[in-house]
Amino acid sequence: MDKKNIDWANLGFGYIQTDKRFVSNFKDGKWDDGKLTDDANVVINECAGVLQYAQTVFEGMKAYTTEDGRIVTFRPDLNAKRMADSARRLEMPVYPEDKFVEAIEKTIKANAGYVPPYGSGATLYVRPYMFGSNPVIGVKPADEYQFRVLTTPVGPYFKGGAKPITIKVSDFDRAAPHGTGHIKAGLNYAMSLHAIVTAHKEGFDENMYLDAATRTKVEETGGANFIFVTKDNKVVTPKSNSILPSITRRSLMTVAKDYLGLEVEEREVYFDEVKDFAECGLCGTAAVISPVGKIVDHGKEICFPSGMEEMGPTTKKLYETLTGIQMGRIEPPKGWLYEIK
Ligand SMILES: *Cc1c(COP(=O)(O)O)cnc(C)c1O
Repeated sequence: MDKKNIDWANLGFGYIQTDKRFVSNFKDGKWDDGKLTDDANVVINECAGVLQYAQTVFEGMKAYTTEDGRIVTFRPDLNAKRMADSARRLEMPVYPEDKFVEAIEKTIKANAGYVPPYGSGATLYVRPYMFGSNPVIGVKPADEYQFRVLTTPVGPYFKGGAKPITIKVSDFDRAAPHGTGHIKAGLNYAMSLHAIVTAHKEGFDENMYLDAATRTKVEETGGANFIFVTKDNKVVTPKSNSILPSITRRSLMTVAKDYLGLEVEEREVYFDEVKDFAECGLCGTAAVISPVGKIVDHGKEICFPSGMEEMGPTTKKLYETLTGIQMGRIEPPKGWLYEIK
């Protein structure tokens, strides 16, 4: 398919409508076959479950072009499984995992002209989501649902190199113990908007959330997991039932262990020990890793030795190895790259 005439290098991270999207409806206890459509608008009843009680879950992934010209997506089976877990927690019907991957593939293929070329730094962001679509006024799960996949081309996350960011320890909580922090639901984002707007007003790039019960342990930010590197070069990531299991973070831990030969630990991380780490990064699909240079806890600053100019050396190796795997420059573990044919 001919590439669209887009200035890939100068694309931002905003919604640009593409040609096709996938839609499937759940009614009378079953999903229909689903199809691609040109219609970018969703028409639902004014009382739809999603509009009243926020019954909606989503995923985020990307499609891109590898060095040898293949269009691929990264570990879509894990997105399929995570969306199924999210749906179960919100009493929504699961969109079958194999059908999920098929829907992703169809949608990317139908929008292949929007998949940026190799080396541009841009990607085609893929957003699968589903929501309760029939009228619900008494509080209960909807009976009908819509599953959709939309795509939108997005620019390079770091224009002119990844500069370390400054984050603050938030006074707000992201997720309650035994709540919904571990699923990818719009509701977790709605309640984080006030916290992020507040942090931005104060001049910070992001929030670090601590565990809501004790406020002593590191959880994550609004949309990315933490990794830390110790002074003796171990890679540490917080373990908690209220963290969203990032696919990027899980992949980075494998890269650290199997490609870089580093020791890795997934364990509770007390905020008190953060000052002793050598490097800190945020991981998620969009940026892969954003380096953190400074954490501010109510006026007290933690400045990582890696500084405010560039990624720490181990963070950089992790970043380069994982992006190398994603772009087809380094042999991937089995099943990590899914080719769109
Ligand atoms: C999506 C998300 C992440 C990152 O997950 P990836 O699978 O790596 O993209 C981290 N934290 C939260 C809260 C998220 O919603």
